[in-house]
Amino acid sequence: MSNPTLTENQKTQAEIAAPVRSTRRQRDYQQISLYKDVNPLDWEDWHWQLKHRIRSKDELSQIIKLTAEEEKGLEKDKGRLSLAITPYWATLIDPEDPTCPIRRQAVPVAAESVVAPHEMVDPCAEDRDSPAPHLVHRYPDRVLLLATDHCAMYCRHCTRRRLVGEHEKEDNSAGKFDAAIEYIKSNKKVRDVLISGGDPLTLEDDVLESLVSRIREISHVEFLRIGTRVPVTLPQRITEGLANMLKKYSPIWMSIHFNHPKEITKRCKLACDMLSEAGIPLGSQSVLLKGINDRPYIMKKLVHELLQIRVRPYYIYQCDPVRGTQHFRTPVAVGINIIEKLRGHTSGYAVPTYVIDGPGGGGKIPIGPNYILSQAKGKYVLRNYKGKIYTYLE
Ligand SMILES: *Cc1c(COP(=O)(O)O)cnc(C)c1O
Repeated sequence: MSNPTLTENQKTQAEIAAPVRSTRRQRDYQQISLYKDVNPLDWEDWHWQLKHRIRSKDELSQIIKLTAEEEKGLEKDKGRLSLAITPYWATLIDPEDPTCPIRRQAVPVAAESVVAPHEMVDPCAEDRDSPAPHLVHRYPDRVLLLATDHCAMYCRHCTRRRLVGEHEKEDNSAGKFDAAIEYIKSNKKVRDVLISGGDPLTLEDDVLESLVSRIREISHVEFLRIGTRVPVTLPQRITEGLANMLKKYSPIWMSIHFNHPKEITKRCKLACDMLSEAGIPLGSQSVLLKGINDRPYIMKKLVHELLQIRVRPYYIYQCDPVRGTQHFRTPVAVGINIIEKLRGHTSGYAVPTYVIDGPGGGGKIPIGPNYILSQAKGKYVLRNYKGKIYTYLE
């Protein structure tokens, strides 16, 4: 009997053995003329990094050779998601290769202004499920708190592009989170608060601490999570001061947005080590992106490298149908195939859950290979990762 799964597997072995396309290594910042005179202490200062982010086509063209598509993407300023690239992230960009996965996540292209018919402003209907400003309540026992509209870098695939950016309108009043905190207080079922944004780690330590401590005071909140990309885009932000502050509010868990093995540098590892050593369990969330991480061998390399820096792969997201992201989206089968090539073939800890956030507010729906071949009364016919068939009797 011919077995399609086995042939698939054989194909994968070849794919996994294929060398990762050789990519230029990270540049030392002194090799970039714009930064050649920067003092190493400034370079390591996260405020310096934020202040010197690349915000214009002019600055960017001093770092990379822009393509026509990128030039077009950069010309359009109005209505576009903000441009901001940390100098640190810029050192990871291949200046010559427009397909560089680091570059494509940060540099807008013309395709970003194309809106496909099914794309939405708020694909996960977060605004509809918001009982208080900055709060999203979708699941019974946990809430999402959007702590800021700012990020260190704006990812071109951002699903919350309707909110985030370097606009001036952000409310920074002292009472900003009062209604959200009141809502959590009066909702005894909420045992888990996920602080995200924007990126909450772009807030100053004291601002973040005041928010974290107010949530911590609520007795029915069992734990906090922080969703961030800062360890990847601005690892200098992870200071001893921040780590010690967060440590006081344990248990805090952290989900870090990682998409490609090139993001795992020595500097990033140092940041993750500091967080781990502060007792913060780390997980990763990745967005499946066409031409960036949609090959099983790239994802496999990513999850293996994540385990080595003590980050547990948590989710792979199908790229949400948010306006202007069609060029990043892959077929769902691509994601399923990645899980197929991981589960059983490598450590269980390395296998994230592939999810689609149900358009219109359905929440995260797990999608994966089907291992149940047939199911009858008291009998399951299953296949394993190699395609071998097993019967389980209940
Ligand atoms: C992702 C998400 C959560 C957290 O979901 P988990 O599966 O528990 O990680 C909570 N609320 C909202 C609105 C979310 O989108």
